Amino acid sequence: MNEPAQSDAERKMQFLYALRSKGVTDARVLNAMEAVDRGPFIRGLFAERAYEDMPLPIACGQTISQPSVVGLMTQALQINPRDKVLEIGTGSGYQAAILSKLARRVYTIDRHRRLVREAREIFDTLDLNNITAITADGSHGLSEQAPFDRIIVTAAAEDPPGPLLAQLKVGGIMVVPVGQSDTVQHLIRVRKTADGLEYDEMRAVRFVPLLEGLGKDT
Ligand code: SAH
Repeated sequence: MNEPAQSDAERKMQFLYALRSKGVTDARVLNAMEAVDRGPFIRGLFAERAYEDMPLPIACGQTISQPSVVGLMTQALQINPRDKVLEIGTGSGYQAAILSKLARRVYTIDRHRRLVREAREIFDTLDLNNITAITADGSHGLSEQAPFDRIIVTAAAEDPPGPLLAQLKVGGIMVVPVGQSDTVQHLIRVRKTADGLEYDEMRAVRFVPLLEGLGKDT
């Protein structure tokens, strides 16, 4: 039996309800996530599942993160409207689009040229003009735009990459999934203070690994 068709408004309400029930409670983050439709970031077969709280496959063997994880990571960053933010792992561009609603400027890097190209097309269509998407190995950061107020890494590293910590401002916050790929990873929040780095561990997650060099597009 077919399920009754759901209206856009119902789908949106369910989407926001799922975020709240998983701990995304910051009003600014919820507003940003309400303003950015996840649909355009998912092409092909899985497009109809865009409003479910699930990670989904995208091109180049990568995944778009689960919306509640996007929400929790964004919330943990405590972004101010004047902030310059660096994201490593553009993927679909969805996380960058959310960041662009909260920050002054967003730089996002992916090692797959195709993902960067497709994300740029969506940013243009949605008039998100404060995002710069770059193809590079993001584990080196982006020294020409450093330092950053906030840094978010959306691929798992064994340790928070040193060059990224170096490119974080004093008073800045970085969120990064840490752990071996295919085992349990944890989201770590790092605060840089005048006295050094403070770490706190958030929830367990599963991300694709942060890899070296540029990727082969598929
Ligand atoms: N933030 C994305 C999901 C990221 S999936 C979204 O909102 O859809 C992780 C991404 O990290 C993949 O696209 C992968 O290509 C990228 N990645 C992995 N290692 C990288 C590296 N060293 N530099 C830049 N990007 C990397």
